[in-house]
Amino acid sequence: MSARFGPLPDESLDALVAILDEIRLGRSRSRSELVARTGLGRAIVAQRVGELIERGLVTEGDVGPSTGGRPPRQLAFRSEAGHLLVADLGATSIDVAVTTLDGRILGHHDEPARIETGPERCLDRVDALFDLLVRTTEDLPGRLWGIGIDVPGPVEFESGRPISPPIMPGWDGYPIRSRFAGRYQAPVWVDNDVNVLALGEWRAGVAMGHDNVVVVKIGTGIGAGIISDGRLHRGAQGSAGDVGHIQVVDDPAVVCRCGNIGCLEALAGGGALGQAGMAAARDGRSARLRTALDRHGTVTAEDVARAASLGDPVAVAMLQSAGRRIGAMLASVVNFFNPSLIVIGGGVANSPDLLLVAIRETIYRRSLPLATRDLLIQRSSLGSLAGVIGASAMVVDQLFARDVIGRWIEAGEPSGLTDLELARAG
Ligand SMILES: [Zn+2]
Repeated sequence: MSARFGPLPDESLDALVAILDEIRLGRSRSRSELVARTGLGRAIVAQRVGELIERGLVTEGDVGPSTGGRPPRQLAFRSEAGHLLVADLGATSIDVAVTTLDGRILGHHDEPARIETGPERCLDRVDALFDLLVRTTEDLPGRLWGIGIDVPGPVEFESGRPISPPIMPGWDGYPIRSRFAGRYQAPVWVDNDVNVLALGEWRAGVAMGHDNVVVVKIGTGIGAGIISDGRLHRGAQGSAGDVGHIQVVDDPAVVCRCGNIGCLEALAGGGALGQAGMAAARDGRSARLRTALDRHGTVTAEDVARAASLGDPVAVAMLQSAGRRIGAMLASVVNFFNPSLIVIGGGVANSPDLLLVAIRETIYRRSLPLATRDLLIQRSSLGSLAGVIGASAMVVDQLFARDVIGRWIEAGEPSGLTDLELARAG
């Protein structure tokens, strides 16, 4: 990469990052707001804002409301300085999107896919869909600034590799980051689906404005993303929030796909609900589930949810039981972590109220009163786009983090920055 701009000393970069964060997250819209909110001097703010404008990261737009005297010009992040490509890989689907640098979706495509067919097939398809998006999106802004991928399993965030993912055969240790970085010559970040869901809800959904949030995804499995003191908490290795494998019973008959016994996920996850529904269909306890089984040869969690919403008592009992178990786990999390908001998302959580009601009742009954006094428990608000919105937010957070921006700000943009350069900085 060639340097288009002069080098920035460390303290200048600190101020630049602080000011850019203020502007791009919509907290400050004028130089005087920046002075008030960052505690930086007026001259420094003016200088750094000038640099951000010169580097094409900030624009000075319409005249804002006057507070007496000359009305200030509004500062805005130039979210169309470049574009991002993101892919949300689920157990049974691929969602891809091209977005601006503030997460606005310019093009989107989703289709069924099976993660268990392995990385080569799945990621070749992602390549093809990225190419399709780039070809068919009109007026794509700038160059490719970064790529974000999320997968339904544990990921070592530093290296961008899945680590022993239970439902992703063939993916263990697969170098997702270097594969994409090599092909696209752009920085790449990879994370698990739940962290990405949490980032999406926090940046653009129901968790906006909350600093301590637990986002629970109830899909085939169960996991949680944690926003702690205004940051996504990934933990030492990136496995924080893996609440589906907390042991909740001591019954050797409850075998989890992770190899342990008694995990929450093995009792209350979508996979477990499907299996319980299948058993109820086979032994004649539920006529509705029997119909589902006859119709497509299997019973899924969605079938159980649908039967419950139609009043099937067996399906209702299953969802209530799952909700109580998830709620009991979350009550412990509430006592331990004291969030102001719990967000419930994922395919299983999307359908019936029953599950949410059971979760909510159990959390309030079993947590400490001080921890639940102002606790909100809400449904995920971004629906099926949550994954791609969150993946875009993940890339932006990384691109503008202090240690990453320092490596591309002189070049003017991060295009061309690949994983080798990222690894060197870590
Ligand atoms: Zn387990």
